[in-house]
Amino acid sequence: MVDGPLTLMAVHAHPDDEAAGTGGILARYAAEGIRTVLVTCTDGACGDGPGGVKPGEQGHDPAAVVAVRQAELEASCAVLNVTHLELLGYADSGMQGWPANDTPGSFWRTPVAEAAARLAELMQRYRPDVVVTYDANGFYGHPDHIQAHRVTMAAAAATDIPAKLYWTTAPRSKMAELAARMREVGADLPDPEQADAAQADTPGALIGLPDDEISTWVEVSAFGGQQFAALAAHASQSDNIFFLKMGLDTFTELMGTETFVRASDRTGAALPEDDLFAGLRQVPEG
Ligand SMILES: [Zn+2]
Repeated sequence: MVDGPLTLMAVHAHPDDEAAGTGGILARYAAEGIRTVLVTCTDGACGDGPGGVKPGEQGHDPAAVVAVRQAELEASCAVLNVTHLELLGYADSGMQGWPANDTPGSFWRTPVAEAAARLAELMQRYRPDVVVTYDANGFYGHPDHIQAHRVTMAAAAATDIPAKLYWTTAPRSKMAELAARMREVGADLPDPEQADAAQADTPGALIGLPDDEISTWVEVSAFGGQQFAALAAHASQSDNIFFLKMGLDTFTELMGTETFVRASDRTGAALPEDDLFAGLRQVPEG
């Protein structure tokens, strides 16, 4: 058991990842009176510029993109009632193979120990009971997500503060339906069977997990409106548009349960579980 307020810390790579992967839990746990801390590691400079213009294309001004995305992040945090937003401010490394991978100051080029020391300071300050980040493949292989995973694992090991640590995931059983719904609203996604075959050569490249490898299923459909509004706050990023085009009802139906793998635990809470704070809550006396 824990004295004082329970604390959730989510460590994400870019502005908007907090909404897409953990908007439901951030909203739900804030509503339960749990302190929520979001750490965003990069400035998102490699995101879309106005009208969806990509880095390196004419009209992509990284400084302007950073400013827009920071304002969007603050709006998203307001919607989700995030208690504390912390920015590590590393340069966005872009997608795998982009020149930005090697930009001085990029998150990908930053030694893990250096960034982990900064995150460890935040863990010392906030003393999170539960920490959430990406899996070792960064959910889908983005270098900054992989780096966020490495940095979080190193900071958690160095401080030994979080009682529970989770990796975000998605049930493969739901991925086909999600892809189908996204195609309905115009997303240009590869045929799922072809995509699976192409990825089968790369171990660990498949997104998500079989249901029986997912330890933790958190019901967040009551917070669908906040999840949706948080994503809408990041409207400059074209990747979010298809979620928004689905409309709130379909979005809530598809995204109403957020799923995790419990990577470390000191509570002994039985698995599978439906609450990131299982084993940490005060049991009423009497
Ligand atoms: Zn990201």
